[in-house]
Amino acid sequence: MTYVVTDNCIRCKYMDCVEVCPVDCFYEGENMLVIHPDECIDCGVCEPECPAEAIKPDTEPGLDNWLQVNAEYAEKWPNISQKRDAPADAKDMDGIPGKFEKFFSPEPGEGD
Ligand code: SF4
Ligand code: SF4
Repeated sequence: MTYVVTDNCIRCKYMDCVEVCPVDCFYEGENMLVIHPDECIDCGVCEPECPAEAIKPDTEPGLDNWLQVNAEYAEKWPNISQKRDAPADAKDMDGIPGKFEKFFSPEPGEGD
């Protein structure tokens, strides 16, 4: 089991999650974060910290595609363990459906 970052993280990136992860297993893309499924120790601490409610346990149904996205990009993107400011329009983007199709970027973020 692992936790996964899902659609509503895209263009939100509040990053409250990265500060609490005891094993620093978040990785940063241009406009979302992912969790490395082999590094996550399933502690669940990050889930309630995410204001966008984008972090879910992979035991929830229908998350197979997200698990794949997290696994693939955790290998490609840089590690992030320190919170930075969220994008200025993060609030406006919260809750917009279908963000992956509209806004997902495979480009890496800055990392720490
Ligand atoms: S707190 Fe939630 S929305 Fe923000 S970066 Fe972490 S997973 Fe993404
Ligand atoms: S469940 Fe725990 S180990 Fe996994 S990403 Fe969240 S804080 Fe890190």
